[in-house]
Amino acid sequence: MDETQEPHLGLADAAPPARAPSTVRAEAYRVLARKYRPSDFTGLIGQEALVRTLRNAFASGRIAHAFMLTGVRGVGKTTTARIVARALNCVGPDGKRTTPTIDPCGVCEPCRAIAESRFVDVQEMDAASRTGIDDIREIIEGTRYAPAAARYKVYIIDEVHMLSKQAFNGLLKTLEEPPPHVKFVFATTEIRKVPVTVLSRCQRFDLRRIETEMLSKHLADIAAKEEIAIEPAALALIARAAEGSVRDGLSLLDQAIAHHAGGAGEAITGDSVRAMLGLADRGRVLDLFEKLMGGAIADALAEFKSLYDNGADPLVVMQDLLETTHFLTRVKVAPGAEGFFDGGSSEAARAVTMAGKLTVPALTRAWQMLLKGLIEVRDAANPYPAAEMAMVRLSFAADLPPTERLVRNLRDAEAAAPAPSASQPRGSGGAPRAQTAARAAEDAKPRRDDLPASAPIASAPPSVEIRNLEDVVALAKEKSARLLATQLETNVHLVSLERGRIQFRPNAQAPKTLASDLAQRLRDWTGERWIVTLASEGGAPTIAESRVAAMRAMKDAVSQEPFVRAVLDAFPGAEIVAVRERAEPEPMSTPSDEEPN
Ligand SMILES: [Zn+2]
Repeated sequence: MDETQEPHLGLADAAPPARAPSTVRAEAYRVLARKYRPSDFTGLIGQEALVRTLRNAFASGRIAHAFMLTGVRGVGKTTTARIVARALNCVGPDGKRTTPTIDPCGVCEPCRAIAESRFVDVQEMDAASRTGIDDIREIIEGTRYAPAAARYKVYIIDEVHMLSKQAFNGLLKTLEEPPPHVKFVFATTEIRKVPVTVLSRCQRFDLRRIETEMLSKHLADIAAKEEIAIEPAALALIARAAEGSVRDGLSLLDQAIAHHAGGAGEAITGDSVRAMLGLADRGRVLDLFEKLMGGAIADALAEFKSLYDNGADPLVVMQDLLETTHFLTRVKVAPGAEGFFDGGSSEAARAVTMAGKLTVPALTRAWQMLLKGLIEVRDAANPYPAAEMAMVRLSFAADLPPTERLVRNLRDAEAAAPAPSASQPRGSGGAPRAQTAARAAEDAKPRRDDLPASAPIASAPPSVEIRNLEDVVALAKEKSARLLATQLETNVHLVSLERGRIQFRPNAQAPKTLASDLAQRLRDWTGERWIVTLASEGGAPTIAESRVAAMRAMKDAVSQEPFVRAVLDAFPGAEIVAVRERAEPEPMSTPSDEEPN
């Protein structure tokens, strides 16, 4: 994790250079990431939990021998490691401080030398380039000697997961019994590759990804200090593109400043940053999305072609459509989210109107289809037609009824048919299948009686009446007799069941003691005597068999539903993978349905 062009000192060249390179070119432009690298914890943004824990540890004098800093690139691991090194070794402005402090002064010699990577007792090593046991031996050798000029020798090992197995083993002995004057600070982007034996000897800190809004504000502060005029929309775009990395955010801000063609006093606009990042104009993406969701496929494809001709990358357009979907969904479920739109304010207002016309189910379906499209576009030899095909699918889906309606129709159909294997009739009371179309108008309304019929069984008291094998299974599950429940489901062909008396034919897999086990358990659970006998032939299919048959029948029935027929016809090669009941009504759906007008 190379933070900037700053040289990482390997151990071989650890002797302090006569003058740090940075002082030589003091007049040269310093990249923002380096200029604004925090020198103490007050400047580190987004890592409050880490700072609080470290502060407590320093205050109580219980400072770990080894720290493990994890997190994605650019969140401040190396910066934190250097601040820790300073905190351990700061001697204060007057040079008289004798103990570590969580608030290093920044002016004493150790503080300044550490910031410039030229402090002899603080050694940085990048495990990505020095992975071997010999590199680690140098460190182990070095730990034997007291620090030359500081309180602690601090070894900072970046990307520590890259060390060889041998190197880790070598390090382990030192970590088990580190000399009191030695501290290790490890940083890694891939914590899972660090051996547990090493992890267990470190105090671990997970550095958080910086939230877009926080990063945007941070960039605004820095732009103000640099006296750079930049629109909030431009900052939001940069923050979003940085994906949680402060360093990437600052590098992009640098680029935006360099890229800026406007005269002095002219603000950097969202449009110019958008062009720099190769993003399509936000307003035009909204146009495209609106056409797609409105089913105006010819217009949508013309819009896409025009974007493409203007240099927009099909993959980026798909990403933009996905982001638009996400943004509209957020506006829908959490009003106020429009404040974080990275387009202009008129686009934000338009997006809010659009969100009002779409339902959450429609948006989530669009999300899934676009996500699938994105992967296809990414993997396609020719991305343009792949993007077009994804758009055609989305646009056609906009004409189809929402999936929830399909599911509800199915449930009604199931209620009309004799209950296949389920123990209870459906709550809706068996609306004939022919009527389902007439009920389309009220489809989207959540209905009270749509709650799954199995709910009462699960919460029934132990003295529940046992009317069929499913009741026995439900009781066994409730009593956590999982194995028995599974055996009843898969190995039992029920011949007869009445109160106190069960007869069944076991299949070949059934354990010999199943009948006596069942009788014993039922007596324990119900307080009544049960006689369980075996039959050598006959009996119903097992519950598991019935379930498979019912699912097959349901898929067959579903595939005959006109809507599903339409979906299958619209997407050649599509198949029904599973039919599921919805657990609860969709709170956001409205009777006015999902498509924009
Ligand atoms: Zn200091």
